[in-house]
Amino acid sequence: MEKGHNLSKSDIVEHIPLACSDELAAVEFLEKQRWGSTPCCVRCGSVDVYQMKDSKTGQRSSRYLWRCRDCKEQYTVRIGTVYEESRIELRHWCYAFWRACTSKKGVAALEIKRHCQISYKSALFLMNRIRFAMAQDQNSPQLKGTIEADEMYVGGKPRYPGNRPGRATEKVAVFCAVERGGQLRRRIIADVKASTLKAALREEVDRQARLITDDYSAYRGLAPEFEGGHETVCHTTKEYVRFGTDIHTNTVESTHALVKRGIVGIYHNVSREYLHRYLWQFDFLWNNRQLNDGERTAMVIQAAEGKRLIYREPAA
Ligand SMILES: [Zn+2]
Repeated sequence: MEKGHNLSKSDIVEHIPLACSDELAAVEFLEKQRWGSTPCCVRCGSVDVYQMKDSKTGQRSSRYLWRCRDCKEQYTVRIGTVYEESRIELRHWCYAFWRACTSKKGVAALEIKRHCQISYKSALFLMNRIRFAMAQDQNSPQLKGTIEADEMYVGGKPRYPGNRPGRATEKVAVFCAVERGGQLRRRIIADVKASTLKAALREEVDRQARLITDDYSAYRGLAPEFEGGHETVCHTTKEYVRFGTDIHTNTVESTHALVKRGIVGIYHNVSREYLHRYLWQFDFLWNNRQLNDGERTAMVIQAAEGKRLIYREPAA
């Protein structure tokens, strides 16, 4: 696996409960995740570093500082991560990382607020950055093999019922392609026109793939583009699996359903503006469903290191 999976997976499961309740344990947990047994300077990379101690007590300094003997830099494990610019205690970050990675539909900021007894604003700050850390790498390879593709609408409850005609339906179109037995790619799309859906398919799916969709007319004419061909199930005639074959779109529909239920049940509807953040979370959890809880948590903590913030999101 990638660099730095420094605690074994069972270690993570073992250490997380303490890291969620004790600040020093949280700091040490994140240091171990980041540096393993060889802490290094965040500025020059030197390993000639030491923990600063409080001169009176001999304990670690109250800010958990490190110092580099080479470049004299003082720093903490927060530097260069998504938690750099927050003062929220790291034990709350650990708790939020853990909760966000260990349930199928993620966790709501409101729940983190209650459990950690922090403000809603802080909980939201934290969850938005964790979701950002979960966002898929833009350069992920195209999907291969047998691909199910489908579109759906999310949302729809008007925010101000009655008096805002333009916002009566805030439904957002979402496209998804799933590689059977593999990963999915999901994105918000402007509309469900043929040109839009086909453009999304061409970007996400390898040309050698075999494509399966429903019989929505927008997908017509794709067969010559994909070497494995294009099969359809006739949802309009209530055909859900072509008898005796593997031709169905149940996989992509089940992941759509998970998002819909999650959005309504956990997040109580999400506006168009913020939907992409929640999709990052759903997609991460789906794409890493074979990993165990510890592995998923380690993965997001490590992704958080690369994505220091300057939290500028790509436009959805
Ligand atoms: Zn240094």
